[in-house]
Amino acid sequence: MPKDKVALVTGVSRGIGRAVVLALAAAGARIVAVGRNREGTESLVEELKAQGTEALAIVADVSQADDVERVFSEATAAFGRIDILVNNAGINRDGLLLRMKEEDWDAVLDVNLKGAFLCTRAAAKIMSKQRYGRIINISSVVGQMGNAGQANYCASKAGLFGLTKSNARELARRNVTVNAVAPGFIVTEMTDSLPEKVKEELLGQIPMERFGTAEDVAAAVAFLAAEQTGYITGQILGVNGGMYM
Ligand code: NAD
Repeated sequence: MPKDKVALVTGVSRGIGRAVVLALAAAGARIVAVGRNREGTESLVEELKAQGTEALAIVADVSQADDVERVFSEATAAFGRIDILVNNAGINRDGLLLRMKEEDWDAVLDVNLKGAFLCTRAAAKIMSKQRYGRIINISSVVGQMGNAGQANYCASKAGLFGLTKSNARELARRNVTVNAVAPGFIVTEMTDSLPEKVKEELLGQIPMERFGTAEDVAAAVAFLAAEQTGYITGQILGVNGGMYM
């Protein structure tokens, strides 16, 4: 990846987002780190600066249109361009369908799907003018398979596939690619809270017999973010140890 590329990643304070930022920085990108958690976002940027990477921290909630507008104006004021957008910010509010509250449905769809839409719309304007861009949406294997107790989360992650493919078609002629990465079960704070019995059952469904790491996902993102992969668009790249094929 050439040194001048600017990557904007959302949900960076921990887990997959943090690993994605570190992988893109290692590949030579300048970083705009967007997170809701001030401490985690700012400390990551300090870490990047200490290792010589140009980086900017922006505290924002991706589900809020005003916040997203501010993110993109601050990012372009600092760096003048945005080459890579990784829509990683995501939440879950699990519960069985019959007990799922409307506010839990709305909260998950607002962050996971609307947040990606708002960021993509803002980034697409800049990338179209540049005639260059890479947009990567972090979805999930459960968006492909479904999962009991996660109707809201799975709907949001399946929605990202429609967003990915439609935007890929719209932006292709501007040399902007749009792809999705669908991680399987990855060891992060989001999955730490699962009961041991559930973890065991899940492992039984994974041909590789291990959970993934945030670095496994980051490597797939870095691949799709590279200049050399510019003929890949509208695709879903699974990072799931063979759990879903
Ligand atoms: P995580 O909870 O550890 O990290 C999520 C990050 O997003 C946090 O830094 C959080 O502060 C941030 N965030 C949440 N809401 C936000 C908002 N409104 N605005 C800005 N930032 C916000 O989760 P993770 O496991 O690292 O997951 C990252 C992404 O990968 C999510 O989209 C998740 O759905 C997806 N994913 C995770 C797994 C897994 O097994 N961990 C599997 C498939 C997909």
